[in-house]
Amino acid sequence: MSYQHIDYLGNAIDLPVGKVVCIGQNYLDHIQEMNSKTAADALFFIKPSTALVPMAPRFIIPSRQGAVHNETEIAVLLKAPLKKASVSEVLAAVWGYSLALDLTLREVQAQLKQLGRPWEIAKGFDGACPVAGFVPADLVADPQQLQFALRVNEHTRQQGDARFMIRGIAQMLSEMSQHFTLLAGDLVLTGTPAGVGPLQHADKLELTMLPWLRVQTQVDHSAELSSEEQS
Ligand code: ZN
Repeated sequence: MSYQHIDYLGNAIDLPVGKVVCIGQNYLDHIQEMNSKTAADALFFIKPSTALVPMAPRFIIPSRQGAVHNETEIAVLLKAPLKKASVSEVLAAVWGYSLALDLTLREVQAQLKQLGRPWEIAKGFDGACPVAGFVPADLVADPQQLQFALRVNEHTRQQGDARFMIRGIAQMLSEMSQHFTLLAGDLVLTGTPAGVGPLQHADKLELTMLPWLRVQTQVDHSAELSSEEQS
């Protein structure tokens, strides 16, 4: 399934599809639920552009590699490059804001962590980053006030509030740009709050970032889909 950035009304955005730079451990409640240790340095990782897929009307998860966890995160779309940028200049490079799922093969990730290996296999697979439509930055008075939620089968599973990020959006964009040049069309994922858990085939999801986004979608297993496609 091909992916292109779209706005929250469904219109195509004239930007290339780039990499996804993510921050880990950016909300205290999620650090606590994972029993993770905090560090002064930020935890950054990258998903390739091939991880990007449309959030709706459905997205596909791997079916044979253990639990696939939801991590609902505010996604930031860039319209201009950032290289070693200061905190005061980064927000001018933002096209807009949306929600993404940082899908994670949790058991694979636990094994990789134990071996001290990188996480790409657990977080960078094809389809590992479903993304919704973007709200233009000029509609968002203060992105650090954004609130969002994930409901799974009509039960609230995650509630996020950007005010509770350990590193704010401008701060993380600046820090990321010290390590990796960010380009127009790249996404930044800003971390998940608590409430990560396994997604199942046929789960019905609703992701909201009010007043702009209310996305309804459904989970498919890769095995079911490929057998359907072959028949
Ligand atoms: Zn994440």
